[in-house]
Amino acid sequence: MSRVLSRITMLFLALFALSVFADETPSYIKAGQLIDVLNGSTHADQVIVIQNDKIVNVAAAANVTIPDGATVIDLSDKTVMPGLLDMHVHLTSDHRFHGYQGLGISVPRSALYGVLNARKTINAGFTTVRNVGAKGYADVALRDAINDGEIVGPSMRVSGPSLGITGGHCDNNLLPSQFGVKNEGVADGPWEVRAKVREIIKYGADVIKFCATGGVLSKGDSVGDQQYTLEEMQVLVAEAHQHGRKVAAHAHGAEGIKAAILAGVDSVEHSSLIDDEGIRLAKEYGTFLVFDVYNDTYILEHGAEVGMLPESLDKEREIGQLQRDNFRKAFEAGARMAFGSDSAVYPHGDNGKQFAYMVEYGMTPMQAIQAATVHAAELIGWPDTVGAIAPGRYADIIAVDGNPLEDVRVMEDVSFVMKGGEVYKR
Ligand SMILES: [Zn+2]
Repeated sequence: MSRVLSRITMLFLALFALSVFADETPSYIKAGQLIDVLNGSTHADQVIVIQNDKIVNVAAAANVTIPDGATVIDLSDKTVMPGLLDMHVHLTSDHRFHGYQGLGISVPRSALYGVLNARKTINAGFTTVRNVGAKGYADVALRDAINDGEIVGPSMRVSGPSLGITGGHCDNNLLPSQFGVKNEGVADGPWEVRAKVREIIKYGADVIKFCATGGVLSKGDSVGDQQYTLEEMQVLVAEAHQHGRKVAAHAHGAEGIKAAILAGVDSVEHSSLIDDEGIRLAKEYGTFLVFDVYNDTYILEHGAEVGMLPESLDKEREIGQLQRDNFRKAFEAGARMAFGSDSAVYPHGDNGKQFAYMVEYGMTPMQAIQAATVHAAELIGWPDTVGAIAPGRYADIIAVDGNPLEDVRVMEDVSFVMKGGEVYKR
């Protein structure tokens, strides 16, 4: 007995010693201007104290004594803010291959694009992303390789394949029947949907994505039409929530948006044709709206050359401007909003270009930055660990030259990136 006890004591001592040695001495960031997204304010001459991967203190420079020989990162000529979050990315897809051009991309190849695109995304200042739709669970592999420190990239929440109806936006309608192509997320009817949610969770999804309506970059469906019945959506959401997974619904059309909100989804992606009743319901249910208001510009300028179908370009012309107008309407009505850009539709790393459109359509720069930090952190389910510079949170910190509150386009060129206390770009 006493031998067992002494072994336990030794083990505890060893663990204690390890934890003491693992605690590195703090490092210090001097911030010329610091954006406090929790309070919507800016403070000059601040010091952020970081230990291991976390922020331990934030205070006015005058109140912090930096010890001699300490590691100091001097960002006193920059504006410092929390690492950004993008709620709608496709890191394992590439903007150069749309429509039939995308059929030649294997799942392993898509995972390798993911390695490249993860790096581009973190270099753009996005230290956390939600990947909503990937073939063959390439997103799960990407997330795990980043978490294990094997490759460079943002922290990821991933969905695996998107669920959808046969022939819908989340199926693949590009080839005739003799090829037998069906996307792996296709499921019809309540029990098939329930089983598919279980299968997707089994293979590593943190979040469930499904298509509630038609889409722009798919063949043969109408962009506004509802796909999935309310009953199917209710079952899907119930099954996902039962396993602690949030649900993101791709939805452009007004009826599909309302059905998704009524079914209890956590966010509506795109939200293009949302009507007054949909906005009212989103507020009542606390549903986040994720409007990807930049990529319309890219689709109309470059879509044809990267293989987007003529019908996709027609659909974009039909809804692009309406989406931006509805972004303004929903924001002014007080709906909850989080930043999501649908990267892969446009080149990865250009995520920050969306800020200017969010400001053009009604937000202040501070509100747009809050949508990409504190609000997105809430949607992704990490409200206390990312999305703000505050004690106890991960040291995910970025900096830009200039003042984004005066000119939000400086967000397109992030000059410093730290994730979890480690510097990735300087
Ligand atoms: Zn998407």
